[in-house]
Amino acid sequence: MANKNGKKRIHPASVAVFPGSFDPLTNGHVDIIERAVAIFGHVVVGVLDNPAKKSLFSEEERVALIKRQFARCQGRVSVVSFSGLLVDFVQSVKSRVVIRGLRAISDFDYEAQMALINRKLVPTVETFFLTAREEHSYISSSVVKQVALLGGDVSVMVPPGVAGALAKKRREKEASSRKR
Ligand code: ADP
Repeated sequence: MANKNGKKRIHPASVAVFPGSFDPLTNGHVDIIERAVAIFGHVVVGVLDNPAKKSLFSEEERVALIKRQFARCQGRVSVVSFSGLLVDFVQSVKSRVVIRGLRAISDFDYEAQMALINRKLVPTVETFFLTAREEHSYISSSVVKQVALLGGDVSVMVPPGVAGALAKKRREKEASSRKR
């Protein structure tokens, strides 16, 4: 709809999209989701389904782990898998806000580039960055996977449900390597 100056009216956002691989969900992700909900009211966690990227957890498993973590936040956190362009997904859920987390300055180059590309594609889509909490700034899904699959304790890095799922993956991998 246009306003009296002929410009397209932009509605304020009350839904934010937090996209990522979440392979698997970590305490760093949980914190960003909770902080984003406190600001925007509703966060759609967009789980990237990219068959070209080899993941430890299937898309269904990643979605289920996040849903279980936020089961008590229905109406404030929804979890949806997506493929294709992020800006298309953002618009499909009636949002125009992308949330990304920044752990260190090393995250910034890539994140700034993605934000600029997304703005070129759809100028009304804005990217907001939330800085990681100090105690989470060393946590990444890939470090968590490495440590857990080698038998290390990741209980301070991930929610209990995710720690259990990682332990199960480790047992499965051990069983399949014994068979070989
Ligand atoms: P991607 O593959 O898209 O980077 P990730 O699942 O690794 O997906 O991360 C999703 C988002 O969460 C990214 O914005 C990333 O910077 C952020 N993130 C990852 N780990 C943390 C953390 N420990 N604290 C805060 N934000 C984080």
